[in-house]
Amino acid sequence: MSDQLELLGMPEPLYPCTPTRLVNWRDCPRRYRFTYLDKPQPPRGPAWAHTSIGAAVHSALADWWGTPPERRDPELAYQLVRKRWLSDGFADREQSAAAGRRAVDWVKDYLYGSETDPLAEPVGVERTVNARTSRLALSGRVDLIDLRDDELVVVDYKTGRREPTEEDAFASLALAVYAVATARTYRRQCVQVELHHLPTGTRAVARYDLAGLERKLAEADSLGEQAAAADAAFAEGRRGDDVFPPNPGPGCSFCDFRRSCPEGRAASEDRPPWSALKQ
Ligand code: SF4
Repeated sequence: MSDQLELLGMPEPLYPCTPTRLVNWRDCPRRYRFTYLDKPQPPRGPAWAHTSIGAAVHSALADWWGTPPERRDPELAYQLVRKRWLSDGFADREQSAAAGRRAVDWVKDYLYGSETDPLAEPVGVERTVNARTSRLALSGRVDLIDLRDDELVVVDYKTGRREPTEEDAFASLALAVYAVATARTYRRQCVQVELHHLPTGTRAVARYDLAGLERKLAEADSLGEQAAAADAAFAEGRRGDDVFPPNPGPGCSFCDFRRSCPEGRAASEDRPPWSALKQ
């Protein structure tokens, strides 16, 4: 197809994708196939408790920023986490309730016991931002976009057990793409990204220079080119490991498609859906 377009002198269409799709391709091509290409999709495993917590906390914080400042107080934080709570993946009601109490404390401490201004009015909340490269039409949803000293800052909430580091923030392809896409969407400088870890109230900050962002976009372009070629191979009926090899390891314990992947099962422990919780 691309050869034909070239012969006709037509530009190749941009490959539409999210950073998550590119990272999925990079991390495990087989999981990429399961997630984006196979129809019907292989059955997913049961919901994870840690995913339920993350989703509830993200939704509660989005609701918080969407509430007029004069109506915000610690009681509202409690009510919003309660309203958004998901009990999927927990061993029982007691475990879910204990996790819910912890999540309320995280959110209250984040809003009232950290650098966060609980009455702030962010520029963007769960906002979709877009950017184009020579090969890709990138889009993604950002948890929060702040305006500080006349420039935008991308904030990503984290609720996992491990406290993210500055290296994690710098290494994240998604965050770098979000920074570029935020700058282009709002037409304002955005070179700083932050991982806000709710369980500890810490912030891991990365501030990019132009060269750093260009390297990340080049990485996105390269992954997008590979993913587009794999998509085309899939459309031609090539679905084997030569195009979509598995990438098994201990982390396969948390893959939603582990039951459909013998190599992943062999490389990882079978864990219950609440195993990533702090007990
Ligand atoms: S179980 Fe592991 S190897 Fe298999 S698809 Fe999932 S991530 Fe890939």
